[in-house]
Formats: sequence, structure tokens, C-alpha cells
Amino acid sequence: SHTLRLILGDQLNLQHRWFREVDPHTTYLMMEVRQETDYVLHHAQKILAIFAAMRELARQLHALGHRIHYITIDEPEARRPLLDNIDTLIAHYGATAFEYQAPDEWRLDEQLYRHGRQSKVAWLMVDSEHFYTTRNEAADIFRNRKQWLMEFFYRQMRVTHQVLMVDAKKPVGEQWNFDHDNRKPWRGTPPEPPDARTLHDHSALWQTIVEAGVKSFGEPQASEFPWPLHRAEALQQLDAFITGALPHFGDFQDAMSSKAWRLFHSLLSFALNVKMLNPREVVARAEAAYHAGQAPLAAVEGFIRQILGWREYVRGVYWAQMPGYAEKNYFHHQRDLPRWFWDGKTKMHCVSQAITQSLQQAHAHHIQRLMVIGNFALLAGLDPAQVHRWYLGIYIDAFEWVELPNTLGMSQFADGGMLATKPYVSSAAYIDRMSDYCKGCHYDKKARTGELACPFNALYWDFFDRNTDLLARNPRIGMAYRQLGKMDAAAIAGFRQHAGRLLEKLDDL
Ligand code: FAD
Ligand code: SF4
Repeated sequence: SHTLRLILGDQLNLQHRWFREVDPHTTYLMMEVRQETDYVLHHAQKILAIFAAMRELARQLHALGHRIHYITIDEPEARRPLLDNIDTLIAHYGATAFEYQAPDEWRLDEQLYRHGRQSKVAWLMVDSEHFYTTRNEAADIFRNRKQWLMEFFYRQMRVTHQVLMVDAKKPVGEQWNFDHDNRKPWRGTPPEPPDARTLHDHSALWQTIVEAGVKSFGEPQASEFPWPLHRAEALQQLDAFITGALPHFGDFQDAMSSKAWRLFHSLLSFALNVKMLNPREVVARAEAAYHAGQAPLAAVEGFIRQILGWREYVRGVYWAQMPGYAEKNYFHHQRDLPRWFWDGKTKMHCVSQAITQSLQQAHAHHIQRLMVIGNFALLAGLDPAQVHRWYLGIYIDAFEWVELPNTLGMSQFADGGMLATKPYVSSAAYIDRMSDYCKGCHYDKKARTGELACPFNALYWDFFDRNTDLLARNPRIGMAYRQLGKMDAAAIAGFRQHAGRLLEKLDDL
């Protein structure tokens, strides 16, 4: 009897129990397929990073003695649906069992589950051995509660997994959350740590991908490719982050700068999401750095909250809300993405920096994604489904289970406040406080109306004004409505009119 085991492109986890023993009666199946490259337009680096890392894992497994069946993107099989290839190979190997690790994406999970119900061979889904929580754990935690709340979930995770705890119940530092300490702008010091990533030449692979006809966007950077190929490189990157950046992570977590694109962020999301790294080892390293006196508690807690808190939480939201979450559109926003989403060519300096960087690096850090690009999209009433597809394509770490709740829920409030307790929007004032973008911008950060007024300003007030029915009762945004209430009729007419003009010519901003 023979077993066929499927390894998906985001399941590159050499530590999985599957690989502990070499079994000559087991074949591992890995596929570069058009079904996965074509369901959304991806950034060139995302396709390259995943295929290069898949090929490397196949090489390592083969070297350990495992049997691998690998379909490359230039083979005819790459054009067939994933399930057809599975059926053909089950027959080819005379397999009596098919096994796969729990997919993180609803679409694939559903396809594989349904197919398994009709299959004549034994069909088994196993744990991917990656996350702290099961798919439904967050939903279970909130089953009898009125509202989902990340902070509640996060504290429970700290207790359950005994992370940064003095004893069973007491958090280290007698405080669960140091978010208030983590909001400093960055003025150039301390310097941004050097980029510790190993560069690779993936030119040949890139040529194969292009010749196979796969469409993409963004800069491939194929000859000096910066994303990790395997676990050892990801671990090196983790080391460099812990010593060089983590101590300042907290202070500058929300800062943005035109002089430093990465600041003190870890750039570990790709390695985590394809499961080269386990979140437990990343959290443990950060916690150890605190206990060794190498990084302050506020930085370590802030970093750990992103992984043990947000990352697991949004996954819980995803599984609780799918399918159907991707269609949510609380504000009925319908506008198409302006053309500059694809080339970064807008006079709005903050947006131009964030998008240009995303096209170059396949990465932007959280506040750029949330408070620049996402902020603009929400204020301008862009169609959340299109915004979602853009985010799902452009970022190196974009996999639907994590991207969709972040984009649709946190950033576009399209779920009506299931994930975020208030819409994340701001005028120019916030962007100016957290960055150097407004200096040297074509627009005037202070002005609300007039040809040179920063578009964020009029659009900000127009957003609250046009959505009064949907938002005014939310206690967390009372401030905006109180300010709006104090404006005189001329001011209100002014921003309404200016916003109307801006919305008609988004392509030209
Ligand atoms: P760091 O700042 O160093 O943070 C450390 C780790 O914490 C990250 O690697 C990531 O694994 C985790 N993390 C941080 N914030 C979040 C969050 N909000 N949700 C889940 N995990 C988080 N993250 C993705 O991994 N994939 C996405 O597709 C994605 N799309 C996003 C879309 C929008 C609109 C927004 C606002 C955020 C999105 N994020 C996404 C979350 C976050 O921006 C990225 O995880 C982060 O920028 C990755 O860079 P880093 O590894 O340097 O993160
Ligand atoms: Fe962005 Fe407005 Fe500042 Fe220009 S003035 S950088 S558009 S916030």
C-alpha cells in the first residue's frame, strides 16, 4: 500500500511530524499550479519566494531520503486543477491513502474536503502543527459574549500558554498591554538596523515563471532576491531582529519614514506564514530577550502581542466568518481603485511612498498598510472587495486567512465592527505626527479645502458626515461627531463640496 501526502505552498514546515521517519511507501506531492498563481494578481516576489522555498524544501526532503513528486510551473500538469492532479497521482502510485495538512485557506479546505467525501481511497486531514489555537478556538472563547475583543482573547492566550507571566494569573510588569508607550515618531535615531537578509539569484526561476505565462506585478528583484529560502535563513533573520531591532520595536512600532522603509520591524511574516518558523519559537526568543535584559518589556510585549494576539485572533475571525466574509461591505462602498494603486504615481507623498515601497519590496509595515493606504481607501469609499484583492496580491505575507480580516475588517470596517471597534481613519494630522511624509508633499497638510489642501482632510470629515447613520452611535468615535457638531454650515458645505470634487478625480490626486 502507498500513501500520497500533499504539501501546499504555505506548508513549508520541515519540523512537521510527517518528516520524522522516512517511509518508502509514502510519496510527498508538491505542485506549482496555475490555479494558485492565477486566482488573484500576485506580486512577482510573492510567486518567486514561494516557489523558490518550495523547491528548496523538496530538495531538503529528498536529501533526507523522502520520496517527492514535484510538479513545476512549466509542466503541462501545472495548468490542470489541483484536484485533477491529485486523482491522477493517486492512480499513478496505486495509493490507498491520501493525506494533507489542514489548509489555512477556506477555498482549498472546502475543495479538498468535498473531494475527499467522494474519494475511494482513505482521505485524511492532519494538523499543520503551526498555530497556537485551533481554527475554532477563538469562536469558542467568544461563543457566549456579546462582542469579539482582541484584548480579551490575547490575555487568555498569555495565561493558557504562560507567556510573559509571573505566575498562573499575573502578567510580568503587572500590566498586560504597553501600547500607550509604543507610539513615538522616528526622527533618525537610533539608526535603522542593517537589512540582515541573505540575497539570492533567482533569475532562472523568474524566467521560467514568466515563460510559463504567469502574470504578476511589482518588481521581481530576481537577481538579488531578499526573502528567505529555508528555515536556517529565517532563523538568522530572527536572530538579527532580536538583537538589532527588538529593543526599539515598541517605541517605533507605529512610526513611518521616507528615509527608512523597514524601521524596526522584523520582516518575519513571510517565514511565519509559510511555516518555516513556528510562532512559539519567535515568541520564546522575544521573551528570553526580555528576561536576559536585552530588550525592554514594552517592546517585547508589543511584539509578542502581534503574534500571540493579533495573528491568532484574525485567524479565529476568518474561520468564524467564512464563507461570506469577503463579500461584506458595511458602507456599500463601490469605487474602483485609482490607477496609482498599480504604479504609486500620486502627488500624495505618504500614499506614493507606501505604494511605491510595496511595489519594490512586496512589503509595507502595519501603519503604512492601515493608516496610509487603507485609510485612504476607506475615506475615498473604494470597493472593499477590490481593496482586498489588491492587498492579497501585493504583500509577500498575504494569505487570505490573515489578509482578509486585516483588510476587510480592521482596515475597511466592511464587517461593520466585528473585528475593529472603530474605523481606522485619520486626517493629515495623524500621518504628520507619525512620519516625515508631509514635509515636501505637494499638498498642504493644514488646509481642508482649496486646490492644494491635503485630500485626507476633506475626505475625513466627509466620511463621518456621510456615514452619520451608521457611526454616530459608536461611543469610540463620539469625538469626531462632537467636532462635526461644532462646525458652522459654511465649513460643512466647504468640505462636502471639496470632497465631492476629489472623489470625481481620484486618478489625478
Ligand atoms: P512585525 O511588525 O515585525 O510584527 C511581527 C509579526 O506579528 C508579523 O510578522 C506578523 O506575523 C504578526 N502580525 C503583526 N500584526 C499583525 C496583524 N495585524 N495580523 C496578523 N499578524 C500580525 N499580515 C500578514 O501576515 N499577512 C497579510 O496579508 C497582512 N495583510 C494586512 C493588511 C492590512 C490592511 C493590514 C492593516 C495589516 C495586514 N497584515 C498582514 C498585518 C501586518 O501589517 C503584517 O503582519 C506586518 O506588517 C508584517 O511585517 P513584519 O513581519 O515586519 O511585522
Ligand atoms: Fe499625505 Fe496629506 Fe501629508 Fe501629503 S499632506 S503626505 S497627502 S497626509
